[in-house]
Amino acid sequence: MITSKEFVERLKSMRPNCYMHGQLIQRDDPRMMTSMKDILMTFDLVDDPGYKDFITATSHLTGKTINRFTHIHQTVDDLLKKQMMTRVLSRLSGTCIQRCMGVDMMNALSVVTKEADDKNGGKTEYYERFKAFCKEFQEKDMVGAAAQTDVKGDRLLRPHEQADPDLYMRVVERNAKGVVVRGCKVHTTVGPYCDELIVTPCRTLTKEEGDWSICFSIPADTKGVHMLIEAANPTPRKAFPAEVEKHGIAHSVTIFDDVLVPWDRVFLDQDPQLGGRAALLFALYHRHSYTGCKPAYTDILMGTTALIAEVSGIEKEQHVRHKLAEMISIAELVYAAGIAAAHTATKASSGTMIPNVIYCNVGRKHAGVNIYHEYDTLCDICGGQPQTMPYEEEYADPKWRAYLDKYFARKKDVSPEIVHRAFRLAQDLIAGPVASNMQIAGVHGGGSPIMEDIAILGNYPIEEKKNIARRLAGIPEKEIKPKEPKK
Ligand SMILES: Cc1cc2nc3c(=O)[nH]c(=O)nc-3n(C[C@H](O)[C@H](O)[C@H](O)COP(=O)(O)OP(=O)(O)OC[C@H]3O[C@@H](n4cnc5c(N)ncnc54)[C@H](O)[C@@H]3O)c2cc1C
Repeated sequence: MITSKEFVERLKSMRPNCYMHGQLIQRDDPRMMTSMKDILMTFDLVDDPGYKDFITATSHLTGKTINRFTHIHQTVDDLLKKQMMTRVLSRLSGTCIQRCMGVDMMNALSVVTKEADDKNGGKTEYYERFKAFCKEFQEKDMVGAAAQTDVKGDRLLRPHEQADPDLYMRVVERNAKGVVVRGCKVHTTVGPYCDELIVTPCRTLTKEEGDWSICFSIPADTKGVHMLIEAANPTPRKAFPAEVEKHGIAHSVTIFDDVLVPWDRVFLDQDPQLGGRAALLFALYHRHSYTGCKPAYTDILMGTTALIAEVSGIEKEQHVRHKLAEMISIAELVYAAGIAAAHTATKASSGTMIPNVIYCNVGRKHAGVNIYHEYDTLCDICGGQPQTMPYEEEYADPKWRAYLDKYFARKKDVSPEIVHRAFRLAQDLIAGPVASNMQIAGVHGGGSPIMEDIAILGNYPIEEKKNIARRLAGIPEKEIKPKEPKK
């Protein structure tokens, strides 16, 4: 394992290929340092007695102690620890822990590469390549970005039907050295500060779409890769420094301009069926990660709601208590779905544990449909102050501070500073740049709501439920075969 300092040194040695506000930026640009703070935390906490038991794991490939964000889940306990780690660390960061993307991709590839070799009867060596890469990923303690979502053009047309075939990432050449890929992945979280871009298709594919079924990983500064960056960083504090101002998040539009991927980094090619399987598996692992991070975010919104109610003197009001009970129900039901998904996980031929598709998806769906409702609750209890309060410079000026302390006081025994701090946090959470990131991620991260419905309906035994109704109604039941999970 490496330290966060070593990680930043490694980033600095990479070829600059990230563009932001019209400039080519360095990977350790101060704005990126804020965006990557959560990632740095995942290196820093491995020796902390309060965290190391779940942030580290034992590699099934080397037997060495590794960061859990590079681990391939071997047991139910591994899935449970990943979920718990995600909740605990996301609470500390106040945003999204970000390093889950890479580990979710690695787990998906560990399953698909082995299934491809099994299917091809030894004619391919994807799994051996993957294991060699995975060892390197673990030894170097790498951070991976999931470059999955394509730009997708006309949403109702398949990749091979698009006016421009490059609207989904595809192979444009195969040669002795490897494959040449062209396309553009979007919303790539951690793109500007990852070691590797791990790529899979983003949807199921048809038999015409062998060239679009490519899975691979390459260093993020590979020749031909260009990244256009957006960063959602909190507003820096002037009067009331706080942890929340240190953690942001950044994404990239990731352009692959005829990029050569060497064969040892190609993990699937010309197999539309398994290309689609890779897409769904990443989404599945990622939705399981959401059953950890989303409850953490509800914890943060709920804690802030309760704190604002306390400083305002309304914490015992019945409507406030009911709203808190609702938030608790959301957080704990989503978390419980992730626990259930781990306990009913199945083992892939590679030995990797695959969490239960129904529990992961219903948990993620429950989180998604409630996300704006949770913001609504915090907004309701805060009143309008998070939007209209003066800037921190006015709090830092003793002349105005005296007025602000006098007129913004709430409950008698609560100091004005605590009131200011509580509302400034609420402002960061519901009215700042990170807020919009968390809201939109809460709906679309890991796939839009419709994709969860498709996964649920495609895997749920509705026919069994109809038989329950038939029996109760006195209608003869139909014989049904048990439903296999969709591949
Ligand atoms: C903050 C954030 C972080 C993210 N991080 C990552 C990341 O790290 N890596 C990554 O790969 N992706 C990431 N994503 C992408 C995320 O998975 C996508 O946003 C999601 O899959 C939706 O894709 P889209 O944004 O292109 O929306 P669209 O595909 O345009 O979907 C919008 C809506 O259009 C409709 N629609 C779309 N296609 C169809 C269709 N075929 N038929 C009918 N209706 C349709 C649906 O109603 C859907 O909800 C991130 C997203 C966000 C917001």
